[in-house]
Amino acid sequence: MEEVFEHEIEGCFLYSRHWNPTNKSLAATLARMEAGESAQVMASGMAAISTSLLQLCSAGDEIVSGRTVYGGTYALLANLLPRFGIRTRFVDLGDMRAVRAAVTDKTRVIYCESVSNPLLEVADIPMLAGVARECGAALVVDNTFSPLILSPLRLGADVVVHSMTKFINGTSDCVAGCVISSHDFIAGLNDINNGPSMLLGPVLDSHRAASILKNLHSLHVRMVRHSMNALFLATRCQDAGLTVYYPGLTHHPQHDLMSRQMNPGFGYGGIVAIDVGDKATADRLMMRMQEERVGYLAVSLGYFKTLFSAPGHSTSSEIPAEERQKMGMGEGLIRFSVGLDNDMERTWGTISALLRELEIPGRS
Ligand code: PLP
Repeated sequence: MEEVFEHEIEGCFLYSRHWNPTNKSLAATLARMEAGESAQVMASGMAAISTSLLQLCSAGDEIVSGRTVYGGTYALLANLLPRFGIRTRFVDLGDMRAVRAAVTDKTRVIYCESVSNPLLEVADIPMLAGVARECGAALVVDNTFSPLILSPLRLGADVVVHSMTKFINGTSDCVAGCVISSHDFIAGLNDINNGPSMLLGPVLDSHRAASILKNLHSLHVRMVRHSMNALFLATRCQDAGLTVYYPGLTHHPQHDLMSRQMNPGFGYGGIVAIDVGDKATADRLMMRMQEERVGYLAVSLGYFKTLFSAPGHSTSSEIPAEERQKMGMGEGLIRFSVGLDNDMERTWGTISALLRELEIPGRS
């Protein structure tokens, strides 16, 4: 026991908050999936994000973050971390000049979502990794939307985080997260004297780790199907004259970038966003889609059923309205997490009938 506490030996399962065999087994699998040296599983995606940032930043340090990130991450960066002296500058990551201008000698982290929530902007990971290297910062990438599709560590990132609540678990019955990085980074998170994970204690319940590991074995099949169904929906919505955000569509501003960065065979991901103009129309369409069993009006994603929500009034509501407007997140935006439907023609038949019923997009 003394040797474990003095870091002289590793791998002893001394106490479950430090490590336990089930969590370690899931972490080892995730490290292989993301081509990382090491990984740690956590109680939520937010725990993975917050402990990683606290490991990298101290009072006085700065973070440069993409401006379209999950609302909870935005609130962490904009509201909570400043209480501990860590300041974030939000920029449009598609504008490399703005990224470089935001970097200072205090920048410790460049933070992005590989495919952003909910506007599906694709980060240029090799380019951001280059800027991070130049200024001695770490590139932290949230890969929640694109497991298997993108491998940020291979593209130059230093740390990858996931909300496993989403695609990785895939059954919307638990909350969990993970961090994948170097041996040193994961060891630092777990340092018994100053590791944020060790000391804040967001340990994943090991029964959950066991069930996530079982679900992980089908992730490669699920991602292919999510992507196939999402591309189908995005194409049909586009043909119907709707404003559609999906990196698999050739008009998407980062379609070529995504095609260059992605691993072959998994498609462009399971998330599609459409803009139906205003909040009332979005709400009516979502209610009708739920009534007609297209899926559920719900804020999560990565489930086998289709889920939909209006980000402006749910998962992105932490971002101030004027910021949302600046980044192009309209009041009528609906984010779909497209499910594993066997017959998308039938699903589209139901959705297109509802679009006609509500006169979308004909009313505009
Ligand atoms: N990252 C992204 C992209 C998300 O969409 C979410 C949650 O919606 C999170 C992180 C946070 O994950 P969790 O809810 O597991 O804490």
